[in-house]
Amino acid sequence: MAEIIKSIDPDILDRIRQIREDLHQHPELAFREKRTAAIVVEQLTKASIEIVAEGMATTGVVGLLRTSRPGRCVALRADMDALPVEEETQLAYQSQNPGVMHACGHDGHCAVLLGAAKVLAGMRDSLCGSVKFIFQPGEEKSEGARLMVEAGVLTCSQAVQAIFGLHARPQIQAGQIELDVIPNAATNPFQIRIKGQGTHAAYPHQACDPIAIGSQIVCALQQVVSRRVAPYEAAVVTVGAFQAGSRGNIIPDQAILKGTIRTRQPAVQKTVVAAVRSTATGVARAMGAECEIEIEPGTPRLRNDEKLLELVRQVGAETLGAEDVLEASMATMGGEDFSQYLEEQGGVPGCMFRLGVETDAPIHTAKFDFGQAALEPGILMMSNVAIRYLSDDNQV
Ligand SMILES: [Zn+2]
Ligand SMILES: [Zn+2]
Repeated sequence: MAEIIKSIDPDILDRIRQIREDLHQHPELAFREKRTAAIVVEQLTKASIEIVAEGMATTGVVGLLRTSRPGRCVALRADMDALPVEEETQLAYQSQNPGVMHACGHDGHCAVLLGAAKVLAGMRDSLCGSVKFIFQPGEEKSEGARLMVEAGVLTCSQAVQAIFGLHARPQIQAGQIELDVIPNAATNPFQIRIKGQGTHAAYPHQACDPIAIGSQIVCALQQVVSRRVAPYEAAVVTVGAFQAGSRGNIIPDQAILKGTIRTRQPAVQKTVVAAVRSTATGVARAMGAECEIEIEPGTPRLRNDEKLLELVRQVGAETLGAEDVLEASMATMGGEDFSQYLEEQGGVPGCMFRLGVETDAPIHTAKFDFGQAALEPGILMMSNVAIRYLSDDNQV
């Protein structure tokens, strides 16, 4: 049975570096990843991996590596989309697409998975079972994974029995990984539209001022976490956008608040979602306005399967060294739509881990870069978790 690998063929690594730079130069926003998807199809095909789906959930691509022996099917997942950020890295391969940037490292995720596909395809005679390579669109819109699951990504061609993914993490070094032993947050994006009555700013008594009412709603929402949620639970209610008005001497007709709810326990999520709704409605009504509230299903919390987490820990120790396998000591309120593939949502056991990258700049900022040094450890880890999972002697 195949042993895990410790190094990558330099030719494969060179090619993957070029592909990563090319993807970085040509970032595409969520659900518009056409060029990226075409490159993925081309590279999987070159590695003699069967394309079982193209255009899934708009641009998703699914490849299947069949080995010569029967066995289980493991999925490896990458996300393809970029963000609406103007890049300021000054890199030679900086984005050529104005206002769009791979600020979350999904260029690196795609390149790593293409590297793992090439490595595993080269080992197909010593593996058993099959490997499904999932390249999904729209992670940043919290919808890509859900749409892929609804389109049958976990069952098409071969039913998946476990899934692994990784995400760039600038807070740790290239060559290190970090394990999330505590579940991360469920996300619920929301929008509140306050429907007032506009008029000349000099006659506020004839208006129903949506800016004044919206301001009260923003303040009242601060009480949801501080007074509705127990102090030992975690929750976030952030209003990140307040859109209203055009001039200083006009009271507008409406104001729009956009925000996000983050929670880590389903019961807390239920409480906070209901409290945001009742608080906004109540404050608006008390001031003579109506409001429309949309709270999206968002992404569920991500809870890694314990056995697969141990598999990643073991493979990480053997691949990178035990000292380079870190454990996240604190819970995060970040969200990740990888959770849509997992058992809590009716999917399969899975584990996502964090991969250290070269930069110190946080993700979602104009100076972030996945960098080249993280490619080899990323490819080794993705290949090795699949090799270990498929090996007969490790039936986790
Ligand atoms: Zn992101
Ligand atoms: Zn991301």
